[in-house]
Amino acid sequence: MSNTMNKRKDDKPTLDLAGALDLSPAPESCPVTIKPRYGHFIDGEFVDGEGGFATINPATGEHLAEIAEGTQAEVDRAVKAARKAFEGPWGKMSGLDRGKYLYRLARRIQEKSRELAVLETMDNGKPIRETRDVDIPLAAQHFFYYAGWADKLAYAFPGGVPKPLGVAGQVIPWNFPFLMAAWKLAPALATGNTVVLKPAETTPLTAMYLAELMQEIDLPPGVVNIVNGMGKTGAAVVGHSDIDKVAFTGSTQVGRIIMRQIAGSKKRATMELGGKGAHLVFADAPLDQAVEGCINGIFFNQGHVCCAGSRLLIEESIAEEFIERLKRRVEVLRIGNPLDKNTDIGAINSAEQMGTIERYLSIGKEEGATTWQSSCPVPDQGFFIRPTILTGVSQTDTVVREEIFGPVLSVLTFRTPAEAVKKANDTEYGLAAGVWSEKTSKLFEVAHALNAGVVWANGYNLFDPASPFGGVRHSGFGREGGIAGLWPYLADQGGAA
Ligand code: NAD
Ligand code: MN
Repeated sequence: MSNTMNKRKDDKPTLDLAGALDLSPAPESCPVTIKPRYGHFIDGEFVDGEGGFATINPATGEHLAEIAEGTQAEVDRAVKAARKAFEGPWGKMSGLDRGKYLYRLARRIQEKSRELAVLETMDNGKPIRETRDVDIPLAAQHFFYYAGWADKLAYAFPGGVPKPLGVAGQVIPWNFPFLMAAWKLAPALATGNTVVLKPAETTPLTAMYLAELMQEIDLPPGVVNIVNGMGKTGAAVVGHSDIDKVAFTGSTQVGRIIMRQIAGSKKRATMELGGKGAHLVFADAPLDQAVEGCINGIFFNQGHVCCAGSRLLIEESIAEEFIERLKRRVEVLRIGNPLDKNTDIGAINSAEQMGTIERYLSIGKEEGATTWQSSCPVPDQGFFIRPTILTGVSQTDTVVREEIFGPVLSVLTFRTPAEAVKKANDTEYGLAAGVWSEKTSKLFEVAHALNAGVVWANGYNLFDPASPFGGVRHSGFGREGGIAGLWPYLADQGGAA
């Protein structure tokens, strides 16, 4: 469903969650109330905290709210509340009852999907069409999916249901704020753990809205605690001595810091880190679909996607034609106000990320890349970068090796499947890859040879709660989604660390 980007002809939802997505009036006109200041959500209560930083709307620069910066003392209180809930009501509850809470939360998310979509778009900068059709519905689906497992763990583990680990410390990034919260919370809660969650500092608003929904459905206090803050608060969460499990999604760099920090402790960890996904297009591919797939692969969510197809490998015989088609299609993408339902490409999430992308663009130029950008007008306020295609690059160039995390596609060519695979695997990352070919045997062969946690065939950025997601090598370890997503939250599961 996430590949509906650019394909929508009308304003109707494409998901089939019956009745749940009656989206008229359009969500962009849905009013949401943003409080001037947010603290934390600890032991079922909203509490103010110390300090503060601003979260802004990156499409306008508008100040949205002030956010408290969680201290060690607040993290302590949150962990204590989570421990108490784990040893108390939540730990003693049957899977059937845990499932009921998760179903209730999933339904509440659906009921509030318009508000959530608007809030996420304002705080993050991503197009409303994506929050409306992808982020929020998928988050609800994730809760539904894991609600379904809560009372069926005996089927997942016929030898005896393993014990939950206890208190999970979860730290999430800003690129899919609400969806990442769902990916983290749903499996942890379904398996009977309790949680302390630290949202990303530029996008805390939908997590605080989720806390309101958790209060409304009477989730027992302490089962989920949310402590806002920056990296230091995140470090206090994962480093807390009474945390049993660390689940982190973010950069490889911070992932390394956390792994060093928890080394030698009893804590179990899962790491969903960066990527430099390769998108392989063979001459026998359905080219029109492949063009759409490649665009979705790199320009979806402004390229702020860990599994983005940021390296395009095209079979040499069709390279010129394919690049032409790609540019023609990119020319018609609309950049601008993320709250406008016709916007394809929204705002870059922060000044900092904007700076990072611009730095990579100038490195690309220095290293000899030919830079092409679409000519779409760009708003004169907020953070925007036109979709960019870099050609004339080589395997050793920085823009081919490092994760840019923006709307920038680096294009390379190959002559044989073996060369394509070799180039695709020549990276320290291993999160995702895509292959386009009409020939099924080639799809299987190439997909098998690609060193990535997720490989899409004739598609890209397709997500489903039932299907496991995660990386190899510097992209991390452990899986989220599917039955494999249960393992990291249960004792003695060898499937994922
Ligand atoms: P980041 O690593 O800078 O921050 C992620 C989170 O970690 C934030 O909440 C931040 O406050 C917190 N943090 C920072 N320093 C910390 C520390 N020392 N200890 C604990 N927490 C700390 O990443 P980002 O810029 O927010 O997100 C972009 C990165 O995330 C990209 O590299 C992207 O590929 C990756 N990502 C990966 C996945 C995946 O599933 N593999 C999904 C989304 C994003
Ligand atoms: Mn923000």
